[in-house]
Amino acid sequence: MSERSAPPGALALVQDLVNTLDLGTGGDALDSAEGRAPFGLTEDTVGPARELRESLRATLLAHAGHPPHRAVTPLGALLARAPLVVTVDDTDGSAALAPVDEGPLLSRVAAAVAEAVTAGTWQRLKACEAADCHWAYYDRSPAGRGRWCSMQLCGARAKMRRYRAKGA
Ligand SMILES: [Zn+2]
Repeated sequence: MSERSAPPGALALVQDLVNTLDLGTGGDALDSAEGRAPFGLTEDTVGPARELRESLRATLLAHAGHPPHRAVTPLGALLARAPLVVTVDDTDGSAALAPVDEGPLLSRVAAAVAEAVTAGTWQRLKACEAADCHWAYYDRSPAGRGRWCSMQLCGARAKMRRYRAKGA
């Protein structure tokens, strides 16, 4: 299945960042230099990236109607530190929101969120409702009411738990 396939456009950056932490095992890809490289992070800049990651996860949970998994800095407060400007292409007049400061991960995430809002895809990037998962995934269900990163994994486990709870 393609349920865990990449979301459209720049949302892949957000999904990839959130999914660097496996809440089930505690494994954090940002612990290693290889894991940090795709995000342009170093040991010195990884701390704020981890904070951003959990603020994003809480926001993606909110997209699915769930409360935050833990206390986080509001995502809006973090993104306010990465202002965007309207850029206009002189040739065709197309406009976009771009970071004032191109480099940092926070700016790239802010631009990705802006792009997704424009494309109407932001609300569909969600976090799985399973507490031991909370994996970021793009909800491709027709009604936009998906609850799990994967029907085969977390969806099946939730169904099994409900089944057992009924005492059947
Ligand atoms: Zn899941």
